[in-house]
Amino acid sequence: MKLLQDVRSVREAVRAERRSGATIGLVPTMGALHDGHLSLASASVAHCDVTAVSIFVNPLQFGPNEDFERYPRDFEADAKRLEPLGVDYVFTMTPEDMYPEGYCTYVVQEGLFEPLCGAFRPGHFRGVATVVTKLFLLAQPHAAFFGQKDAQQCIVLKRLVDDLGFDVDVRVVPTMREPDGLAMSSRNLYLSESRRRDAASLYRALSAARSLYETGERDTAPMIAAMDEVFAPIDDIVVEYREIVDPVTLQRIDRVESRALAAVAAKLGPSRLIDNVVLGADTLW
Ligand code: AMP
Repeated sequence: MKLLQDVRSVREAVRAERRSGATIGLVPTMGALHDGHLSLASASVAHCDVTAVSIFVNPLQFGPNEDFERYPRDFEADAKRLEPLGVDYVFTMTPEDMYPEGYCTYVVQEGLFEPLCGAFRPGHFRGVATVVTKLFLLAQPHAAFFGQKDAQQCIVLKRLVDDLGFDVDVRVVPTMREPDGLAMSSRNLYLSESRRRDAASLYRALSAARSLYETGERDTAPMIAAMDEVFAPIDDIVVEYREIVDPVTLQRIDRVESRALAAVAAKLGPSRLIDNVVLGADTLW
């Protein structure tokens, strides 16, 4: 496994791999890797000749009062977890390398940035769309792997690839969960013991909505009420949203006609957690 720590050496390695005819799989991450990230890396290893995992805590996708500074960084532990999977490259770049002085070019989308997390994290998806565009141009992957846990991100990036005509196969990998249902996340590391217990309520709420759907309910109001009931007894939680949305437009719907996305975001102390389930299908992708 090769560690490449600047844009120039990444570009050279990619050129050589492309010349040899290898298919390249890219797994963009911000590090602090857990089994969810590793499942993306394994999917890429299974699917592509060469797998590159990028580790870059992207300042552009954090708001001014968010956790960029204290986001967990443990590069050595991350590399140790990736090596046995058969990952070929780990790319780490510095913010200065990605956004040199005078940087002023951004990727924006109309419509998909505003709902759900976009309403609470202004600028977040601009940061995501910009860094992923740059990573695609740099790593020139044939396929790129993202987690369903960040469903809005997957929808934004699929649209970006279609709209800009990137020749990249965007693959979405199911959410990996802890035994109590909590979606794995680097931000779970911030949780105290009692908040860690409360954090499982996100998945319990989504499961309550899904159970109603599975028993034939199609109106979203009772599903939202069922989610609220799960959150009600938890003192410490600040629910930012719990929505049932159209999986293409991300707009709220009153009835689930075919497929829908049930999505939640909540703050538990210093951790902002998100999760989602698909109604009417196993996956949107
Ligand atoms: P992050 O490092 O949080 O930016 O995540 C990097 C990639 O890993 C994104 O595509 C995430 O959606 C994905 N990911 C994060 N958590 C999980 C999880 N629990 N299961 C599957 N994929 C995940």
